Amino acid sequence: MEEEDCILGLHHITAIASDAQQNFDFYSKVLGLRFLKKTVNFDDPGAYHFYFGDEVGSAGTILTFFPWPHITPGTRGAGQATAIGYSVPAGSFDFWLRRFEEYNVSHGQPGEKFGEPCLSFFDPDGLPLEFVVAQTPDPRTPWTTTEIAADVALRGFHYVTLMVASRRGTASILTGIFGYALVNQAGNRYRYATDAVPTARFVDLVEEPGSKRGVVAGGSVHHVAFRVRDEATLLHFREQVLGRGLDVTPQIDRQYFHSLYFREPGGVLFEIATDNPGFMVDEPLAELGTHLLLPPQYEKRRNQILAHLPPVV
Ligand code: ZN
Repeated sequence: MEEEDCILGLHHITAIASDAQQNFDFYSKVLGLRFLKKTVNFDDPGAYHFYFGDEVGSAGTILTFFPWPHITPGTRGAGQATAIGYSVPAGSFDFWLRRFEEYNVSHGQPGEKFGEPCLSFFDPDGLPLEFVVAQTPDPRTPWTTTEIAADVALRGFHYVTLMVASRRGTASILTGIFGYALVNQAGNRYRYATDAVPTARFVDLVEEPGSKRGVVAGGSVHHVAFRVRDEATLLHFREQVLGRGLDVTPQIDRQYFHSLYFREPGGVLFEIATDNPGFMVDEPLAELGTHLLLPPQYEKRRNQILAHLPPVV
Protein backbone atom coordinates (compact mmCIF):
# COMPACT_ATOMS: atom_id res chain seq x y z
CA MET A 1 0.00 0.00 0.00
CA GLU A 2 1.31 3.44 -0.93
CA GLU A 3 1.94 5.55 2.15
CA GLU A 4 -0.37 8.29 0.87
CA ASP A 5 -3.21 5.80 0.72
CA CYS A 6 -2.91 4.75 4.36
CA ILE A 7 -5.23 5.05 7.30
CA LEU A 8 -2.85 6.36 9.98
CA GLY A 9 -4.53 4.89 13.07
CA LEU A 10 -7.06 6.77 15.18
CA HIS A 11 -7.56 10.50 14.63
CA HIS A 12 -10.09 11.39 17.34
CA ILE A 13 -12.98 9.93 19.30
CA THR A 14 -16.12 11.92 20.03
CA ALA A 15 -18.43 11.15 22.94
CA ILE A 16 -21.47 12.64 24.63
CA ALA A 17 -21.48 14.29 28.05
CA SER A 18 -24.19 15.97 30.10
CA ASP A 19 -22.78 18.80 32.23
CA ALA A 20 -20.14 20.91 30.45
CA GLN A 21 -18.31 22.05 33.58
CA GLN A 22 -18.19 18.52 34.99
CA ASN A 23 -16.81 17.24 31.69
CA PHE A 24 -14.21 20.02 31.50
CA ASP A 25 -13.09 19.38 35.10
CA PHE A 26 -12.76 15.62 34.67
CA TYR A 27 -10.70 15.58 31.50
CA SER A 28 -8.56 18.68 32.00
CA LYS A 29 -8.08 18.50 35.78
CA VAL A 30 -8.57 14.92 36.99
CA LEU A 31 -7.01 13.25 33.91
CA GLY A 32 -4.78 16.20 33.03
CA LEU A 33 -5.40 16.42 29.29
CA ARG A 34 -4.86 19.71 27.52
CA PHE A 35 -8.10 21.58 26.85
CA LEU A 36 -7.46 22.30 23.17
CA LYS A 37 -10.54 23.94 21.85
CA LYS A 38 -13.82 25.40 23.04
CA THR A 39 -16.23 25.67 20.15
CA VAL A 40 -19.82 24.73 19.36
CA ASN A 41 -21.35 21.67 17.77
CA PHE A 42 -21.38 22.70 14.10
CA ASP A 43 -24.66 20.80 13.59
CA ASP A 44 -26.21 22.19 16.83
CA PRO A 45 -24.56 25.53 17.67
CA GLY A 46 -26.59 25.83 20.88
CA ALA A 47 -24.27 23.22 22.42
CA TYR A 48 -20.56 23.19 23.09
CA HIS A 49 -17.98 21.04 21.40
CA PHE A 50 -14.91 20.47 23.60
CA TYR A 51 -11.57 19.05 22.45
CA PHE A 52 -8.95 17.52 24.75
CA GLY A 53 -5.55 16.09 23.81
CA ASP A 54 -1.80 16.66 23.90
CA GLU A 55 -0.04 20.00 23.54
CA VAL A 56 -0.82 20.54 19.86
CA GLY A 57 -3.79 18.23 19.42
CA SER A 58 -1.91 15.44 17.67
CA ALA A 59 -4.08 12.88 15.92
CA GLY A 60 -4.42 9.81 18.12
CA THR A 61 -4.69 11.92 21.29
CA ILE A 62 -7.87 13.88 20.58
CA LEU A 63 -10.98 13.15 22.63
CA THR A 64 -13.92 15.44 21.96
CA PHE A 65 -17.30 15.89 23.62
CA PHE A 66 -20.71 17.24 22.89
CA PRO A 67 -22.00 18.31 26.32
CA TRP A 68 -25.80 18.30 26.15
CA PRO A 69 -27.15 19.25 29.62
CA HIS A 70 -30.45 17.36 29.38
CA ILE A 71 -29.22 14.24 27.61
CA THR A 72 -30.45 10.93 29.02
CA PRO A 73 -27.89 8.16 29.65
CA GLY A 74 -27.20 5.82 26.73
CA THR A 75 -27.19 2.05 26.96
CA ARG A 76 -24.26 -0.20 26.12
CA GLY A 77 -24.79 -2.57 23.22
CA ALA A 78 -23.87 -3.65 19.73
CA GLY A 79 -22.95 -1.07 17.12
CA GLN A 80 -21.08 1.07 19.63
CA ALA A 81 -17.58 1.93 20.72
CA THR A 82 -17.71 0.56 24.26
CA ALA A 83 -14.29 1.50 25.66
CA ILE A 84 -11.51 3.98 24.99
CA GLY A 85 -8.04 2.71 25.90
CA TYR A 86 -5.42 5.32 26.85
CA SER A 87 -1.73 4.53 26.92
CA VAL A 88 -0.07 5.34 30.28
CA PRO A 89 3.45 4.61 31.57
CA ALA A 90 4.39 1.41 33.40
CA GLY A 91 4.11 1.86 37.15
CA SER A 92 1.48 4.63 36.98
CA PHE A 93 -1.55 2.62 38.16
CA ASP A 94 -0.88 3.25 41.88
CA PHE A 95 -0.92 6.99 41.26
CA TRP A 96 -4.15 6.72 39.26
CA LEU A 97 -5.87 4.48 41.79
CA ARG A 98 -5.11 7.00 44.55
CA ARG A 99 -6.37 9.81 42.33
CA PHE A 100 -9.56 7.88 41.49
CA GLU A 101 -10.24 7.51 45.24
CA GLU A 102 -9.57 11.21 45.83
CA TYR A 103 -11.98 12.29 43.07
CA ASN A 104 -14.57 9.53 43.55
CA VAL A 105 -13.95 8.07 40.11
CA SER A 106 -15.70 4.74 39.60
CA HIS A 107 -13.08 2.16 38.61
CA GLY A 108 -12.24 -1.54 38.39
CA GLN A 109 -9.16 -3.40 39.58
CA PRO A 110 -5.99 -3.73 37.51
CA GLY A 111 -6.20 -6.59 35.00
CA GLU A 112 -4.74 -7.52 31.67
CA LYS A 113 -5.68 -7.62 27.97
CA PHE A 114 -3.42 -9.40 25.49
CA GLY A 115 -0.60 -9.35 28.02
CA GLU A 116 -0.87 -5.61 28.65
CA PRO A 117 -1.81 -4.33 32.13
CA CYS A 118 -5.06 -2.39 32.07
CA LEU A 119 -7.26 -0.50 34.51
CA SER A 120 -10.87 0.34 33.69
CA PHE A 121 -12.74 3.40 34.96
CA PHE A 122 -15.68 5.61 34.11
CA ASP A 123 -16.04 9.32 33.50
CA PRO A 124 -18.80 11.25 35.39
CA ASP A 125 -21.34 10.35 32.67
CA GLY A 126 -20.46 6.66 32.79
CA LEU A 127 -18.29 6.61 29.66
CA PRO A 128 -15.99 3.54 29.90
CA LEU A 129 -12.28 4.31 29.74
CA GLU A 130 -9.20 2.18 30.28
CA PHE A 131 -5.59 2.84 31.09
CA VAL A 132 -3.20 0.46 29.39
CA VAL A 133 0.53 -0.07 29.68
CA ALA A 134 1.61 -0.77 26.11
CA GLN A 135 3.98 -3.66 25.50
CA THR A 136 6.39 -1.37 23.69
CA PRO A 137 7.13 1.92 25.47
CA ASP A 138 5.00 4.76 24.10
CA PRO A 139 7.28 7.45 22.58
CA ARG A 140 4.68 10.23 22.63
CA THR A 141 5.34 13.37 24.69
CA PRO A 142 2.48 13.89 27.13
CA TRP A 143 0.81 17.09 28.22
CA THR A 144 1.56 17.59 31.90
CA THR A 145 0.00 19.67 34.67
CA THR A 146 1.08 20.69 38.16
CA GLU A 147 -0.59 17.53 39.51
CA ILE A 148 0.11 15.10 36.67
CA ALA A 149 3.78 14.70 35.79
CA ALA A 150 5.29 12.97 32.76
CA ASP A 151 5.89 9.69 34.64
CA VAL A 152 2.11 9.12 34.98
CA ALA A 153 0.56 11.31 32.26
CA LEU A 154 -1.65 9.99 29.45
CA ARG A 155 0.17 9.50 26.13
CA GLY A 156 -2.87 9.26 23.88
CA PHE A 157 -5.08 6.47 22.58
CA HIS A 158 -3.86 2.89 22.58
CA TYR A 159 -7.03 1.28 21.28
CA VAL A 160 -10.74 1.60 20.94
CA THR A 161 -13.12 -1.29 21.59
CA LEU A 162 -16.16 -1.74 19.36
CA MET A 163 -18.99 -4.08 20.32
CA VAL A 164 -20.66 -5.76 17.35
CA ALA A 165 -23.20 -8.55 16.97
CA SER A 166 -21.06 -10.02 14.19
CA ARG A 167 -17.51 -8.95 13.48
CA ARG A 168 -17.54 -9.87 9.81
CA GLY A 169 -18.74 -6.59 8.29
CA THR A 170 -16.66 -4.38 10.55
CA ALA A 171 -13.59 -6.55 10.03
CA SER A 172 -14.02 -6.32 6.26
CA ILE A 173 -13.79 -2.52 6.46
CA LEU A 174 -10.75 -2.65 8.75
CA THR A 175 -8.85 -5.26 6.76
CA GLY A 176 -10.26 -4.70 3.26
CA ILE A 177 -10.11 -0.90 3.15
CA PHE A 178 -8.23 0.51 6.16
CA GLY A 179 -5.17 -1.75 5.93
CA TYR A 180 -5.60 -3.32 9.39
CA ALA A 181 -4.89 -7.00 10.13
CA LEU A 182 -6.11 -9.37 12.84
CA VAL A 183 -3.18 -9.66 15.26
CA ASN A 184 -4.67 -11.32 18.35
CA GLN A 185 -7.74 -12.99 19.75
CA ALA A 186 -8.93 -13.98 23.21
CA GLY A 187 -12.44 -15.36 23.57
CA ASN A 188 -14.79 -13.01 21.74
CA ARG A 189 -12.24 -10.14 21.63
CA TYR A 190 -10.45 -9.73 18.29
CA ARG A 191 -7.59 -7.25 18.03
CA TYR A 192 -6.87 -5.52 14.73
CA ALA A 193 -3.83 -3.34 14.09
CA THR A 194 -2.26 -1.21 11.41
CA ASP A 195 1.49 -1.07 10.87
CA ALA A 196 1.23 2.37 9.24
CA VAL A 197 1.82 4.17 12.57
CA PRO A 198 3.52 3.23 15.88
CA THR A 199 0.72 4.37 18.26
CA ALA A 200 -3.09 4.65 18.39
CA ARG A 201 -3.09 1.74 15.96
CA PHE A 202 -5.36 -0.90 17.54
CA VAL A 203 -9.07 -1.60 17.19
CA ASP A 204 -10.62 -4.37 19.31
CA LEU A 205 -13.83 -5.96 18.11
CA VAL A 206 -15.87 -7.62 20.84
CA GLU A 207 -18.34 -9.93 19.17
CA GLU A 208 -21.61 -10.44 21.06
CA PRO A 209 -23.97 -12.43 18.84
CA GLY A 210 -27.59 -11.62 19.53
CA SER A 211 -26.80 -8.54 21.59
CA LYS A 212 -29.19 -5.66 21.29
CA ARG A 213 -28.21 -2.42 19.58
CA GLY A 214 -26.82 0.07 22.08
CA VAL A 215 -28.40 3.49 22.43
CA VAL A 216 -25.93 6.30 21.80
CA ALA A 217 -26.70 9.09 24.30
CA GLY A 218 -25.09 10.43 27.49
CA GLY A 219 -21.87 8.63 28.42
CA SER A 220 -21.58 6.98 24.99
CA VAL A 221 -19.12 7.32 22.16
CA HIS A 222 -20.77 9.17 19.27
CA HIS A 223 -18.22 8.25 16.59
CA VAL A 224 -14.69 7.04 16.00
CA ALA A 225 -12.48 8.96 13.57
CA PHE A 226 -9.57 7.46 11.65
CA ARG A 227 -6.69 9.57 10.41
CA VAL A 228 -5.52 10.30 6.89
CA ARG A 229 -2.81 12.70 5.81
CA ASP A 230 -4.71 15.01 3.50
CA GLU A 231 -7.83 15.64 1.48
CA ALA A 232 -6.70 13.65 -1.56
CA THR A 233 -6.40 10.57 0.66
CA LEU A 234 -9.77 11.33 2.21
CA LEU A 235 -11.38 11.27 -1.22
CA HIS A 236 -9.52 8.08 -2.11
CA PHE A 237 -11.13 6.39 0.91
CA ARG A 238 -14.50 7.90 0.06
CA GLU A 239 -14.39 5.99 -3.23
CA GLN A 240 -13.36 2.80 -1.42
CA VAL A 241 -16.27 3.05 1.03
CA LEU A 242 -18.73 3.87 -1.75
CA GLY A 243 -17.41 0.82 -3.59
CA ARG A 244 -18.68 -1.34 -0.71
CA GLY A 245 -22.16 -0.01 -1.29
CA LEU A 246 -22.19 2.02 1.93
CA ASP A 247 -23.64 5.51 2.30
CA VAL A 248 -20.95 8.09 2.93
CA THR A 249 -21.17 11.85 3.38
CA PRO A 250 -19.40 14.29 1.11
CA GLN A 251 -16.19 15.84 2.40
CA ILE A 252 -17.13 18.21 5.26
CA ASP A 253 -15.08 21.16 6.55
CA ARG A 254 -14.78 20.75 10.34
CA GLN A 255 -12.60 23.85 10.71
CA TYR A 256 -9.70 21.89 12.28
CA PHE A 257 -9.79 18.99 9.82
CA HIS A 258 -11.68 17.80 6.77
CA SER A 259 -13.79 14.70 7.22
CA LEU A 260 -16.41 12.33 5.99
CA TYR A 261 -18.70 9.97 7.86
CA PHE A 262 -20.22 6.57 7.23
CA ARG A 263 -21.88 3.89 9.35
CA GLU A 264 -19.85 0.70 9.11
CA PRO A 265 -21.76 -2.58 8.68
CA GLY A 266 -21.55 -3.36 12.42
CA GLY A 267 -23.40 -0.13 13.22
CA VAL A 268 -20.63 2.12 14.53
CA LEU A 269 -20.41 5.63 13.07
CA PHE A 270 -16.96 5.98 11.52
CA GLU A 271 -15.33 9.21 10.42
CA ILE A 272 -12.18 9.70 8.39
CA ALA A 273 -10.38 12.97 9.15
CA THR A 274 -7.31 14.78 7.80
CA ASP A 275 -4.28 16.14 9.63
CA ASN A 276 -4.78 19.53 8.06
CA PRO A 277 -5.33 22.33 8.94
CA GLY A 278 -5.05 21.52 12.68
CA PHE A 279 -5.92 23.39 15.87
CA MET A 280 -3.66 26.42 15.37
CA VAL A 281 -5.83 27.63 12.50
CA ASP A 282 -7.72 30.03 14.81
CA GLU A 283 -5.63 30.21 18.03
CA PRO A 284 -1.87 30.30 18.62
CA LEU A 285 -0.33 27.32 20.41
CA ALA A 286 -0.03 29.07 23.78
CA GLU A 287 -3.71 30.11 23.72
CA LEU A 288 -5.35 26.86 22.59
CA GLY A 289 -8.65 26.38 24.40
CA THR A 290 -8.80 29.88 25.87
CA HIS A 291 -11.34 31.47 23.51
CA LEU A 292 -14.84 30.50 22.47
CA LEU A 293 -14.31 29.88 18.78
CA LEU A 294 -17.08 29.79 16.24
CA PRO A 295 -16.84 28.72 12.62
CA PRO A 296 -17.42 31.61 10.18
CA GLN A 297 -21.05 30.65 9.51
CA TYR A 298 -21.98 31.25 13.18
CA GLU A 299 -19.79 34.29 13.93
CA LYS A 300 -22.60 36.77 13.23
CA ARG A 301 -24.78 34.97 15.80
CA ARG A 302 -22.05 35.01 18.48
CA ASN A 303 -24.00 36.98 21.11
CA GLN A 304 -27.11 34.88 20.71
CA ILE A 305 -25.10 31.64 20.91
CA LEU A 306 -23.12 32.83 23.95
CA ALA A 307 -26.30 33.70 25.82
CA HIS A 308 -27.40 30.06 25.69
CA LEU A 309 -24.12 28.41 26.70
CA PRO A 310 -23.30 27.87 30.38
CA PRO A 311 -19.99 29.48 31.39
CA VAL A 312 -17.15 26.99 31.84
CA VAL A 313 -13.96 27.78 33.72
ZN1 ZN B 1 -15.45 13.70 14.63
